[in-house]
Amino acid sequence: MFGVWAPNEDVAKLAYYGLYALQHRGQESAGIAVSDGNRIVVHKEMGLVAQVFDEPALTALRGHIAVGHCRYSTTGASVWANAQPTFRSTGKVSLALGHNGNLINTRELAGLLGGPGQGSAGILATSDTDVLTALFVSDRTALSGVTAGPAGAALPPAGPAGATRAPAGPASVVETAAATVLPLVKGAYSLVFMDEQTLYAARDPHGFRPLVLGRLNTGWVVASETAALDIVGARFVREIAPGELVCIDGRGVRSRTFAAPQPSGCLFEYVYLARPDTTISGRGVHATRVAVGRQLAAEHPADADLVIPVPESGTPAAIGFAEASGIPFGQGLVKNSYVGRTFIQPSQTIRERGIKLKLNPLRDAIAGRRIVVVDDSIVRGNTQRALVAMLREAGASEVHVRVASPPVSWPCFYGIDFATRAELIAGRLSPAEICASIGADSLGYVSLAGLIEATTLPEGRLCRACFDGQYPIPVAEDDRGKHVLDGLGVGS
Ligand code: SF4
Repeated sequence: MFGVWAPNEDVAKLAYYGLYALQHRGQESAGIAVSDGNRIVVHKEMGLVAQVFDEPALTALRGHIAVGHCRYSTTGASVWANAQPTFRSTGKVSLALGHNGNLINTRELAGLLGGPGQGSAGILATSDTDVLTALFVSDRTALSGVTAGPAGAALPPAGPAGATRAPAGPASVVETAAATVLPLVKGAYSLVFMDEQTLYAARDPHGFRPLVLGRLNTGWVVASETAALDIVGARFVREIAPGELVCIDGRGVRSRTFAAPQPSGCLFEYVYLARPDTTISGRGVHATRVAVGRQLAAEHPADADLVIPVPESGTPAAIGFAEASGIPFGQGLVKNSYVGRTFIQPSQTIRERGIKLKLNPLRDAIAGRRIVVVDDSIVRGNTQRALVAMLREAGASEVHVRVASPPVSWPCFYGIDFATRAELIAGRLSPAEICASIGADSLGYVSLAGLIEATTLPEGRLCRACFDGQYPIPVAEDDRGKHVLDGLGVGS
């Protein structure tokens, strides 16, 4: 997710590059909304960022504010109607919105609305994001009826353009509507949204998903990860705080707190989700993963000849494991970087070989050796079973699997589409049973305490529910699952 406010820049191009840097966070659909101050235009389609946009499409998106999104679905099917940014217009004001996270009171929020398909304020799709967007423009919290309230406090100047910023005036109607709506919303939401004049960013009180503010020479950027700031040449300013709403327009940058912060950032961002060149809460993701690898070697040593990663997310932990154990590090698996979730479903024959599409062993490196293979996590266990078989086929004399996270035993309701508990292998089997199930000679997971220590963050500031079942916000049984809105007859 990416937003930019910059009068002197080609904001559509910046959003494109920002989304390109964030493609790993969602590969199902992509979209960019741009405003020229009078009108918002949205272009979105199913597919990867580079498939959705070409030069003519970007050239047609003219303006000085942009919101971009690449989707990974957690509530609502992977269909065009659920692609983002979502868009609504009341006739007086328009809104385009991108959301990273997953709401856990979507049915309750849908109940506040009049029902499916009732004009701009009705629910038009089956995503939690669509419900949230409809709520912003509904009569209940009405953009059309809300009168502008007092603005948030102006931030201190943060660069050359800071000195030219005017003092904060009255809040926009969207800012006032956001301050009304957001306290009603439960779950994980980092939001980037816009009306014709203003770019907004907001983060839920728990701050499950990251969201950062960056500075261009003559503008501002908000993005899901710091790596996206680097790629567009923006300087990191700070994180958007949990419970904070930020508004960026010609009057400058304003901030208000809409809910008391209760930080519990996602621990899995450090394990797998975030790019290694991103920094979260002041801690580099790559450095964290290397430290986890060192810890893993201390907790689960192995007698072996070679440490290899499952590329790419297992690589830093494998480096750390090799450093701490003294066992040489090497590449043993080649990854095809172009395999993502695409429209083309593999044929049955290929599907049965599954992992082969993505990874192929380097036989010369593996044959006759005792291998430690380091992976970031085990979810269902199918990949690791195929991986162990592949390494044995390539001639490994022993295969020791080391995992840079504790067993994933519980589903996530805050923005990762893990399996149900029954589908999670660690929800059913002990580590010893999992070792037997995947056919490894040994299996070791890093401890939860070891992983948390590697982040250098206090334990109480992190969500780790998928590892220990302690959910920061309880989730009712009826609010679980990807298709909670499908029964309401919307989006069909
Ligand atoms: S349950 Fe796991 S994946 Fe989900 S937010 Fe918490 S730590 Fe992250």
